[in-house]
Amino acid sequence: MMAQSKALLVLENFIGGKFIPCSSYIDSYNPSTGDVYCKVPDSGKEEVEAAVKAAKDAFPIWSSKSPWERSQILNKLADLIEHDLEAFAQAESKDQGKTITFARTVDIPRAVYNFRFFASSILHHITECTEMATMGCVHYTSRAPVGVAGLISPWNLPLYLLTWKIAPAIACGNTVVAKPSEMTSVTAWMMCKLLEKAGVPHGVVNIVFGTGAKAGEALVCHPDVPLVSFTGSTLTAQRIREKSAPHCKRLSLELGGKNPAIIFDDADLSQCIPTTLRSSFSNQGEICLCTSRIFVQRGIYSEFLKRFVAEAKKWKTGNPSDPTVDVGALISKEHLEKVRNYVKKAQAEGARVLCGEGVDALDLPPGNQKGYFMLPTVIAEVKDESCCMQEEIFGPVTCVVAFDTEEEVIKRANGVKYGLAATVWSNNVGRVHRVAHRLQSGLVWTNCWLVRDLNLPFGGMKASGIGREGAKDSYEFFTEVKTITIKH
Ligand code: NAD
Repeated sequence: MMAQSKALLVLENFIGGKFIPCSSYIDSYNPSTGDVYCKVPDSGKEEVEAAVKAAKDAFPIWSSKSPWERSQILNKLADLIEHDLEAFAQAESKDQGKTITFARTVDIPRAVYNFRFFASSILHHITECTEMATMGCVHYTSRAPVGVAGLISPWNLPLYLLTWKIAPAIACGNTVVAKPSEMTSVTAWMMCKLLEKAGVPHGVVNIVFGTGAKAGEALVCHPDVPLVSFTGSTLTAQRIREKSAPHCKRLSLELGGKNPAIIFDDADLSQCIPTTLRSSFSNQGEICLCTSRIFVQRGIYSEFLKRFVAEAKKWKTGNPSDPTVDVGALISKEHLEKVRNYVKKAQAEGARVLCGEGVDALDLPPGNQKGYFMLPTVIAEVKDESCCMQEEIFGPVTCVVAFDTEEEVIKRANGVKYGLAATVWSNNVGRVHRVAHRLQSGLVWTNCWLVRDLNLPFGGMKASGIGREGAKDSYEFFTEVKTITIKH
C-alpha cells in the first residue's frame, strides 16, 4: 500500500476498497522546507470512471442499511482516527504547513467529531406528515439517499473539510467519490487505510487524487454523479456551475470570504484583542472564516491599533512542528508570492504596514529557510476600494480602519462581493442584534469567533456560496424528498 521511492511518500487512489497505483504523479511539497516529499496520483477521467462505477455498485447495499447500522460504522471510524490522532496531526502539519498545535487541537479532533456528529444526527431526523380530513387523505414525506456524491475539498483544512462532507453523505446512505486538494492529499489517503477496519463496505468511500482541472472536472462532469458538494474558491465554483449545468446537478458551494470584524467603542478589548488576533492569523490566515477587515470605532481606534500590533508581534512564526510556534508555513511558493503582492499593492496605494511583511525580519531555523513563511501583517489606512479590502487574500494579513457610526459601518462591512462570516464586538445587546440582522453574512459571531454548533446552518451569502451545511441542511442536501399521499 505505501510505496517508498527515494524516500518519497507515494500515494495511491482508493477505489472499490483497494489501493490502486496511477500512471502519472504530481509532486507535493512540504511547505515548511520547500522540498518535494510526496507523489500524488495525477488522476483523470479513467480513474474517476472506475471510482464512480465502484460507488454505483456499492450503493444498493449501503443505501439499504438502517441509519443505526451506518451510525455504528461512522462511530467506529471516528474511534480509529482518534486512536491515530497524533500520526494524523503530524501528517497534516507536514503536508499543509499548519502548526502541529493547530492540527492536534483543531483539524484532527474536528475530523473525528464530524463522524461522531453525523453518526448521531442521522438517528434523529423526522419527516413531515399532514392530514386532509375532508378528503380522507394523509400526506407524508419520505427521504432517500440520492446516489453517488462527488465531494471536492480545498487545502486549508484538509481532513477537517473532507470529513465534513464524507460523514453526512454516507450517513444518509449515499456512496461517494471524493477528491481532496492535490496539495494536501496525505491524511485522506491515511484515512482510507482505516475504512475496512471500521466496517465501511468496499466502494462506499472512494478517493481519487489529482488536480482540479483533470480529476475534479471529470467528477463534476460525470453523468452518474447527481450531486456535488464543493468547498473552495469562488472562481472554481463558477467553473463547476458551468460544467455541471448541462446535467442539472444538485450543488452545495462553500466559497471564499472577506470577513469583517466590527469593534464598537464599548467592546471589552481584553477579550476582543486576543480573539481578533486569532480570527486574523490562525492557520496562517488560511481559513475561509478569518477576519481580514477590522473596523474600529474612532474613539478607541488608536488604543486598539497600538495594543493589537504589539500583540501581533508576539506571534511566533517558524517550524510548524515546534509546539511553541503560532504561525506555520503558507501552502505554496505561489500562494506566498500572491499574499506578499497584496501587501506591496497596499503600500503602493499609501497604506501603512505596521508590522510583519517588509517591516520586521523573519527569524527561521536553518532547516526552514526555503519554506513559505510570512509574519502576521497588520495594515492601516487602507481605502475601502483597495484590493486589500475587497479581495480574499487568504494569508496572515489583516487591515484595520476607523469608523464613526453604526449606519456607516454596516454599509462599509457589506460593501464587498462576499458574505461569509462577520464578527461584532459590543456590550450593547440591542446593537449587536440590530447589526447582526443587517449584515450580509451567513454567520455572525458577537463577542466571540469560530464557536460552532454543527446542528445549525453553515454557509455564505453572495459570492461566498450557495446552500448550507449542518445537521438538517446536510441531511436535506444529501437526500431526496418525496411527498406521498394516502387516501383511506
Ligand atoms: P480551489 O477552488 O482552488 O480548489 C478547491 C478544490 O477544487 C481542490 O480540490 C481543487 O483541486 C478543486 N478544483 C480546482 N479546479 C477545479 C475544477 N475546474 N473542477 C473541479 N474541481 C476543481 O480552492 P483552494 O485554493 O484549494 O482553497 C481555498 C479557497 O477555499 C478559498 O477561497 C477559501 O475561502 C475557500 N474555502 C471556503 C470554505 C467555506 O466553508 N466557505 C472553507 C475552506 C476554504
